[in-house]
Amino acid sequence: MAKIPHRLILTEDQMPKQWYNLRADMKEKPDPLRNPATGEPVKKEDLYPIFCEELAAQEMDNDTPYFDIPEEVLDIYKMYRPSPLNRAYDLERYLGTPAHIYFKYEGNNTSGSHKLNSAVPQAYYAKKQGLKGLTTETGAGQWGTALAEACAFFGLPLTVYMVKGSYQQKPYRREIIRTFGADIVASPSDTTAVGRSILAKDPDTTGSLGCAISEAIEKATTSDGVRYVLGSVLNQVLLHQSIIGLECEEAMKIIGEYPDIGIGCAGGGANLGGLIAPFMRDKLRGERDPYFIAVEPASCPSMTRGRYAYDFCDTGKVTPLARMYTLGSGFIPSANHAGGLRYHGMSPVISKLYHDGYLNEARSYEQTKVFEAAVLFAKVETILPAPESAHAIRCAIDEALRCKETGEEKVILFGLTGTGYFDMAAYSSFHDGTMTDYIPTDADLQPGFDSLPKVPGVQE
Ligand SMILES: *Cc1c(COP(=O)(O)O)cnc(C)c1O
Repeated sequence: MAKIPHRLILTEDQMPKQWYNLRADMKEKPDPLRNPATGEPVKKEDLYPIFCEELAAQEMDNDTPYFDIPEEVLDIYKMYRPSPLNRAYDLERYLGTPAHIYFKYEGNNTSGSHKLNSAVPQAYYAKKQGLKGLTTETGAGQWGTALAEACAFFGLPLTVYMVKGSYQQKPYRREIIRTFGADIVASPSDTTAVGRSILAKDPDTTGSLGCAISEAIEKATTSDGVRYVLGSVLNQVLLHQSIIGLECEEAMKIIGEYPDIGIGCAGGGANLGGLIAPFMRDKLRGERDPYFIAVEPASCPSMTRGRYAYDFCDTGKVTPLARMYTLGSGFIPSANHAGGLRYHGMSPVISKLYHDGYLNEARSYEQTKVFEAAVLFAKVETILPAPESAHAIRCAIDEALRCKETGEEKVILFGLTGTGYFDMAAYSSFHDGTMTDYIPTDADLQPGFDSLPKVPGVQE
């Protein structure tokens, strides 16, 4: 058989024309979003003040397996997709493993990550509905950048609430977002009631994703013709990100491979859900049995140490309740945490699949271990990974080393979600030896669990 190429890129014609909705193949669906006051499941119409209508429909659709990708969205996808599926030959050689290691690289676009895959359709549907603008939050800045790019393309005004800590640490991220014409506000800010109340309690806070979400939602719901969009966690985002996995499936068919192990880093669960979507479909249908691993930071361990419970999606408690693995909506990772993936909760779809055992394992790593893997990967594979992506690299390396012990020639697929160019401050703290591994104690986590809302009529 011909040698498998280092880097396989599908042609435009081979690119998937539809997204795949995992929920359609789940026998037990994720629990519905609920109204915090009444405990009633949220209806599609309840979401219209927050989301545009097509996205609200995608959010609520547990049954339709495939959604056509609009032509306009496909045209933009084609400017930076299909993304390459790489065989990590040099990493395999370095490790001396019989495993075949593959990674799907999503860092080859200006936003530097997979987030553009969902930013484009979200901006497109908003434009199509005739909206006047969008708001969003951004943590590390990748989502804000991706959405600013997409909104610039469609001529839609955008306000980005950027977690204050990142705003201060990442001036160049800020400048890219401004280059694409978005307004950018350090959160918490005095531009919203919720921001002002958070600042009144803690004037020196460096902010959190949950808090930036509250501000962005308030801004959207109090401005005419403006809606809020989110770059992860939601069902609609997992749907859009399925393009990653569908391309992998197509490419792997061509080379005659199928993943035994699928690995993704997990912040809100979007890239992981997208990467594994078609392979999870095969598993849900009983046709294949790949092993799936979600990887998270030990300093923000929502799946490995969180509760599976109804919780708010934001700190300001303005969102509906979602049933998910969560550390409590007030959770803020320690200030020295540099590796991203800092959201307190997890996608309800990923949470349900994990709870029911289809997603086999969640694993957490300390950040110095993650950066060791990042540096090794950069040296042998020549790509500088985002710290988030390096969580998946760490896990792939460990799995490949396990194969070395057992002599198994397993096929390992992981998501390399982005480039590390904008995270050099984190790399410098690693190189300088000032990076520390803070793992929250049970006592640190307890207040978050104590703050979980009681939902009328729902037994956990
Ligand atoms: C946002 C981001 C992640 C984590 O988000 P998910 O929703 O869990 O996919 C991972 N890697 C990069 C590069 C990101 O920008």
